[in-house]
Amino acid sequence: MKRASDRLSRVPPSATLGISARARELRAQGIDVISFGAGEPDFATPEHVVAAAARACYDLENHKYTASAGLRPLREAIAEDIRRYSGVDVDWSEVMVTNGAKQAVFQAFAALLDPGDEVLLPSPHWVTYPAGIDLAGGVTVSVPTRIEDGFKVDVESLEAAMTERTRMLVFVSPSNPTGVVYTADEARAIGEWAKANDIWVLADEIYQRLTYFTDVAPSIAAVTPRFENWVLINGVAKTYSMTGWRVGWMAGPTDIVDAANSHQSHATGNVDNVAQHAALAALRGPQDTVEEMRAAFDARRKLMFSLVSDIPGVDCVEPQGAFYVFPDVSRVLEGRWVSTDELATAILEEAGVALVPGESFGAPGHLRLSYATGDAEIERGMERIRRLIAR
Ligand code: GLU
Repeated sequence: MKRASDRLSRVPPSATLGISARARELRAQGIDVISFGAGEPDFATPEHVVAAAARACYDLENHKYTASAGLRPLREAIAEDIRRYSGVDVDWSEVMVTNGAKQAVFQAFAALLDPGDEVLLPSPHWVTYPAGIDLAGGVTVSVPTRIEDGFKVDVESLEAAMTERTRMLVFVSPSNPTGVVYTADEARAIGEWAKANDIWVLADEIYQRLTYFTDVAPSIAAVTPRFENWVLINGVAKTYSMTGWRVGWMAGPTDIVDAANSHQSHATGNVDNVAQHAALAALRGPQDTVEEMRAAFDARRKLMFSLVSDIPGVDCVEPQGAFYVFPDVSRVLEGRWVSTDELATAILEEAGVALVPGESFGAPGHLRLSYATGDAEIERGMERIRRLIAR
C-alpha cells in the first residue's frame, strides 16, 4: 500500500532543526554536546515580554480565536516596525501574523506560485526555501554565488538564470547561512532588475536588526523607488530571542496578503493568542535588550570568526549580519572525508559538536556554525573541532 504522498516524500526534513534535535538527544543520554546547530539565541525572552504573556493568559478574551490574520493592535505595531526598520509605508491591513517567519515563507509561496513557476534562489540558501517552493508547485532555480564575491548575487547572474517562467526572487539580507549584508546600492540594482522584469521579490528580513557594521540592513523594498511587487517577511524570533513563541509575519500588497490569509484561515487559523500579546509587548516595549543581545552577538561573531579562520585549510568570509559563519572547508576534507555531510557527522560523533553541513544549504564543501551561544561554549567547541581536524 502506498504510504506518504510523492509530494511530501520528496521533501527532506529541516536539517537545521534535525541537527538540534540530535544534539538534544545526545545530551539527554548524558553526552556533552556543544551546539553550533540551529540559529537560536541562547538568551531568555525579555522579562517584560514574558510578563505581558503571563497577564494575557489570565484574560479570558485571549482563550479564544483571533482573526486569522492576527490581532489588529499587533498588525498595527508590525506596520510601524516595518516603517521604522524597512523604511516602507504599509497599512496594518497589508500585514498578516503567521506561526513564525517560517510559515510566512510558505504562505508567500502558496499565494504567489502556480505550478511550474520558477523561483530564483541565490545559494548558499537557507534549508527551508526549496521545500516551500516545491510544496507550492514551484521550481527552485539556484543561482550560485562565490566566496570570492562575498557570497553576493548580482544582476548578471540573475539575468542568466531568468527564463519566461521566472516569477519570483528570494532575497535574504542579512543572509542565512553566509551572514552577508547587501548595501543599499546592491539591493537597489537587484530591485530595479526585478521591477523591470515583473518579478516578485520575497525579502526575508528576519535578521534585519542583527547587523554589525550598519544599524539595520537596507530593505530592497525601500531602496527601489516605485517598486510594488515585494513581500516582506520578518518576526520576533531572532530580534527578541523568542524562537519558541512562533510569531512571524508577512507584509505585501492587499490581494496577496488576502490570498495568503485565506490559505491560513484553513491551514492553521490564528497564531496563538497569548503569543501574539507577547509579540506586541516586544514590539511596543523597551528596545534596550535588543541592543544588548546584538552587542553580545557581535563579540561572539568576532571570536568565532577568528577561531574558525585560524584553522589551517579553512577559508572564511567575515559575516556582517545574522549569527552564522560559513567557512569553506573543502581543503580540510581532502583524503579524509568524502563530503561535509560526513565531516559534520564526525565532528558530532567524535568531537561532540553539532553544526550543519553545507549540503543542506546547496553549498557542499562548507559548514555552518551558529554563534548564538555563549563565549565559553564557542571556545570549547572550536577547540574540539580544531583538534579533530589536526588529528
Ligand atoms: N532559522 C534557524 C536556522 O537556520 C532556525 C532553525 C530553522 O528554522 O531552520 O538555524
